[in-house]
Amino acid sequence: MSTVSEGGIVGEFLSLKSETDADVLTMQVGDFYEFFADDAELVGEVLDLNVSQKSSHGSSYPMAGVPLSELTPYLKQLVERGYRVAVADQHETENGHTREISRVVTPGTLLETTSADAQYLAGVVRVKDGYGLAFADVTTGRFLVTAISGPDADERALTELYRFAPAEVLPGPDVRNDDSFLERVRERTDASLSVHDANAFAPGKATHRTREQFGKETLASLGLDAGEGAEVRAAGAVLSYVEETGAGVLGSMTRLQSYRADDHVELDATTQRNLELTETMHGDRNGSLFDTLDHTKTSAGRRLLKEWLQRPRRSLDLLRERQSNVAAFAESALAREEIRESLSDAYDLERLASKAASGSADAHDLLRVRDSLAVLPTVADAIENAPSLTSSPLAELAARPDRERAVALRGELAEALADDPPNTVTQGGMFRRGYDEELDEIIDQHESNLEWFDTLAGREKSRTGIAHLQVDRNKTDGYYLQVGKSETGKVPEEYEAVKTLKNSERYVTEELREREREILRLEERRGEMEYELFQRLQARVADRAELLQDVGRTLAELDVLASLAVHAVENGWVRPELAESGLDIRQGRHPVVEQTTEFVPNDVRMDDDREFLIVTGPNMSGKSTYMRQVALITLLAQVGGFVPAREARVGLVDGIFTRVGALDELAQGRSTFMVEMQELSNILHSATEDSLVILDEVGRGTATYDGISIAWAATEYLHNEVRAKTLFATHYHELTTLADHLPRVENVHVSADERDGDVTFLRTVRDGPTNRSYGIHVADLAGVPVPVVERSRDVLDKLRKEKAIEAKGGGSNDPVQAVFDLGSGEFQRTGDDASEDVDAESDGGPELDPETEAVLDELAGMEVADISPIELMSKVQEWQKRLDGA
Ligand code: ADP
Ligand code: MG
Repeated sequence: MSTVSEGGIVGEFLSLKSETDADVLTMQVGDFYEFFADDAELVGEVLDLNVSQKSSHGSSYPMAGVPLSELTPYLKQLVERGYRVAVADQHETENGHTREISRVVTPGTLLETTSADAQYLAGVVRVKDGYGLAFADVTTGRFLVTAISGPDADERALTELYRFAPAEVLPGPDVRNDDSFLERVRERTDASLSVHDANAFAPGKATHRTREQFGKETLASLGLDAGEGAEVRAAGAVLSYVEETGAGVLGSMTRLQSYRADDHVELDATTQRNLELTETMHGDRNGSLFDTLDHTKTSAGRRLLKEWLQRPRRSLDLLRERQSNVAAFAESALAREEIRESLSDAYDLERLASKAASGSADAHDLLRVRDSLAVLPTVADAIENAPSLTSSPLAELAARPDRERAVALRGELAEALADDPPNTVTQGGMFRRGYDEELDEIIDQHESNLEWFDTLAGREKSRTGIAHLQVDRNKTDGYYLQVGKSETGKVPEEYEAVKTLKNSERYVTEELREREREILRLEERRGEMEYELFQRLQARVADRAELLQDVGRTLAELDVLASLAVHAVENGWVRPELAESGLDIRQGRHPVVEQTTEFVPNDVRMDDDREFLIVTGPNMSGKSTYMRQVALITLLAQVGGFVPAREARVGLVDGIFTRVGALDELAQGRSTFMVEMQELSNILHSATEDSLVILDEVGRGTATYDGISIAWAATEYLHNEVRAKTLFATHYHELTTLADHLPRVENVHVSADERDGDVTFLRTVRDGPTNRSYGIHVADLAGVPVPVVERSRDVLDKLRKEKAIEAKGGGSNDPVQAVFDLGSGEFQRTGDDASEDVDAESDGGPELDPETEAVLDELAGMEVADISPIELMSKVQEWQKRLDGA
């Protein structure tokens, strides 16, 4: 049919390509989607497709293609790698066909995702005093906006972006050229940055677009109708981008939600990473808090649980309601398990609503809608029938969606759809009898014609007396009568021979031909009718996108609440008492560590007189775990769930900030001292008296003198100015004296039991500072050679008793003295009168080989107070190597 010559295809491709700013174009050519030229090379490499050569107008072009039905998985792979892919479809016309780009699939508008995670497209607008952000998930129809203003607007906007982890970001005209901002977006998200028409961000146009989508009243009721609002500009741009890319899902974006940053507990990017909410520091999902807590039955539930963990709340009412629901589920195991069992029959209704809205659902999808809608009354009844659930807010939650409409739509789908429909929507067989009169009539006629053929052989046999007569149908010949060779003499004269086979002859008759034409006509008509009916049914479902989303959200929420209850029951967690301030955790545990370790429970108590805890204790005694446990219990309380403790009272916080010293992070291949200090500065700026601050060995990434000075000053500032609830683990024992000087600072230590030089960590946190340093013990554990460990103990003893150490075997016998003077807050080094027989030990000790001796000399001669822990570590490694060789 094509009027375009073969060679012209590449020309057509290249001209379509020049119309789009997508990275890759694929063009339908008959039954295939083809890629040509550079795009073919690219997909050859990225998708491992076969690339062949196509000659066109004397030149040769690379070409690659996939069958029509297989485009989706390839599209998905390309888009997930960050490419924006334009799809040009072929349309039949009177005189041939035309091709045009029907959609551009981008990372933020990909409908065909198979991941259960939310997939956000974000719009970012910067105004004088802050930012407007819009987040749309085309796969579920979720649409959220927020405005961020104030002194740290930059940082907080980036935090929100990190939290939503968008797949694609549309920077507005004001941030488009801010390289440092864009760089930070790239650092914190995996998003593709896409340039969208600057006009779409203009206040007038964007407001119009947003009103059109969500209604004028919605904007007014959310207070977004001012016209200049940055969030409306971001929203308008996102909407127009979704429209322009042609995903066709605008219909599923039914509701505009506006949130304020102070609805949620602030969790900056570093904190989310440190607390290992959704993945561990090593990037594994296993071992994250989410992974530990997740007992959900549905993918929508999983998505919502993740959202809850990443967005803990600050409203007492809301949290108490969630708690009551978790408690109710925790107490009624039987009903809970029954409900979870039903939930496992539910599919992802939010996703299905988007699919229907975009017109890409098939009959199986609508059956999934039918089955998922059926879950609502089942679980609602189960809640009604369980006395302890009925009296909880669960009953209200289950009653939230319009149950009558859900049942009605379910009934409609059940009446319409056959139980085993075909996989394509152009094939007949999708509908039940009785659904549509006209369709039934066609089916009846079709069937009576089929019946006529089915019985034809019998009728002909008795009429003609031919014993071996069959009626059959194949692709090339259509229907035919087949008669064995021996009986061809008996065929009546109206039989018209069409084909001779080895043992038989095939015939047709005029009537047979007519019946056949009738059957083909009816089949075609049936296909058309069913396709039309299906589109109508799909549109009815799409019209109820909001209902589907309501039911989907409710089921997801029940799933999450039940999942939290399951975890609480299985692990002996308790319902925390929520308070305005303070913190009192009895026998608390770390929610993740307790899964794999015989955990030693700990207490923590903080209140107005006890706001700042300095946590000391040996290396590996559990300081970091203890502090994270406090942060996680606080977070879990503000998710609305139970917590790992025997008893807990948790004061609500407005933000959780954590910082782990550069040394600890360095071990994991990240971060520098510079980053450590930047983040410390961010905490000192952002934390308020309602925040929880966790500092773990901050200041450790630099030489002792600097480090302790920074730690000292930060403590004073947090205590005096910010007044945040703070836990600070430090190996600078000097800091513990601060408790004597500052009223709200208290010391706690992780206790260790020492007998015969062997240390057993009790991991019980007690009041008061620790009095020992166990670095040497850890060196011992790490396999540092015995003579070195022994000599180190010696050196430490002398340092401790006399604050002086001699340089054994060094050029000078003058002892070096290091004293930390708390009065002046400075170190002083002197070389005064300490005296000791420097050779006494090596004289009386065992004979050592020269290399060991040399290492010991170096150790003894070292000015420990002057060296950073990082240098020290590499020194120890070097010594180990040398001693191994000795
Ligand atoms: P620190 O920060 O004091 O060096 P960590 O918090 O890193 O120590 O803990 C060291 C090890 O001890 C970790 O493997 C941790 O899982 C384990 N641990 C910490 N606290 C406890 C506890 N209360 N009960 C059992 N094991 C613990
Ligand atoms: Mg630690």
